[in-house]
Amino acid sequence: MEEIRKAIQYLRERDLYPDVKVIQGVSSDPEVMIDGRKVHNFCSANYLGLANDPILKKAVVEGIRRYGLHPTGSRLVSGTLDIHLELEKETAKFKDAEDSVIFTSGVLANIGSIPALVNLPPFPPSAAAQSVIRRFLGSEAEIFSDELNHGSIIDGIRLAKVKRTIYKHNDVEDLERALRRSRTKRKLVITDGVFSMDGDIAPLPKLIELSKKYGAMLMVDDAHATGVLGKHGKGTLEYFGLRDGIDIQMGTYSKAMGLLGGFVAGEKSLIDYLRIWARTYVFSGAIWGSIAYGALKAMEIVQKDVERRKRLLANSDYLRDGLKQRGFNTLTSKDTPIIPILIGKEEDSIRAARELFNEGIFAPAIRWPAVPKGMSRIRISVMSTHTQRQMDYFLNTMEKVAAKLHVIR
Ligand code: PMP
Repeated sequence: MEEIRKAIQYLRERDLYPDVKVIQGVSSDPEVMIDGRKVHNFCSANYLGLANDPILKKAVVEGIRRYGLHPTGSRLVSGTLDIHLELEKETAKFKDAEDSVIFTSGVLANIGSIPALVNLPPFPPSAAAQSVIRRFLGSEAEIFSDELNHGSIIDGIRLAKVKRTIYKHNDVEDLERALRRSRTKRKLVITDGVFSMDGDIAPLPKLIELSKKYGAMLMVDDAHATGVLGKHGKGTLEYFGLRDGIDIQMGTYSKAMGLLGGFVAGEKSLIDYLRIWARTYVFSGAIWGSIAYGALKAMEIVQKDVERRKRLLANSDYLRDGLKQRGFNTLTSKDTPIIPILIGKEEDSIRAARELFNEGIFAPAIRWPAVPKGMSRIRISVMSTHTQRQMDYFLNTMEKVAAKLHVIR
């Protein structure tokens, strides 16, 4: 306890403990209430404005009427509802996959699936044979992971307890070197589709090519691309004009779809396997039926309402271009609603976030461990529902704050 107290004291004394804002009422609209004051919200992943949409809210309420509240059982015992299976079927169709499995969150999808993918159960070969193989050959699997992958991927890899190789961000040459060097039989390459802190897109065609060439499975976390990239919002594959090539497609209903939950889509045998071997699926209570009911509706809107997506991407381009013109460093962010504004030092980004807030803009500082040390930033996320007036106000205020604090890089 003494060490924990000291750690917290250290952060508080240096004003580094996160300043978490408390929102009154809806938190996902372009304007939210904080401390009784209306502020512009530039940090919600409600990309398509669905998180407070009347049609979706009605669907979830209808779902509660039909399915009650928590299913109060895990999927393998008493928690599997017809609506879960319907959502899994539609999610698979949406992702052009044979089947899919849903988890109660995206984090749980990653930390449950990744260890399962590389640690096969003892059938076949027998448990005894597996333990002999492990003893003499060491681990049979190796995971290759982009250095900027999401924290839940990192945790999934830690839980997998196999050899791991971290390759440089989006650097396919570095990845190929590592794949060529590897003597491991079972290889798994993992990447975010859209990187959550940098807002750039994984070089998917090349990753597919390399995975095929070196006999690796490819897993893509499309949490921020689902509903956002591609004409129908199918994600990173559609963005590149592809229909297949990813073995394990992970995504969430918690961002563009405005709901809750994660999923993995892929071939049927893979999904059947995760249903018995992904521990966060096996041991967690099932996701609410009402959420599944709402997610079906959200997926329908996401695919049909192309205009929302066009507006989102137009808004994103407008803000990104505006920031660049004003001299801000938005790293390699492109074609996505996530825009980093690099500040550098933690203290500076915290001060910038505070100044922005005083001016009525909610866009917190992002710091280590979410991003590497020295790469602290204000990261904004854009919504299709942001107005021209709100975006211009943001750009002008960001410029004013940066000039005051001398933080343009
Ligand atoms: N993957 C990525 C890339 C994410 O950004 C997030 C959310 N921060 C998740 C997974 C986890 O999703 P969820 O919030 O549904 O647990």
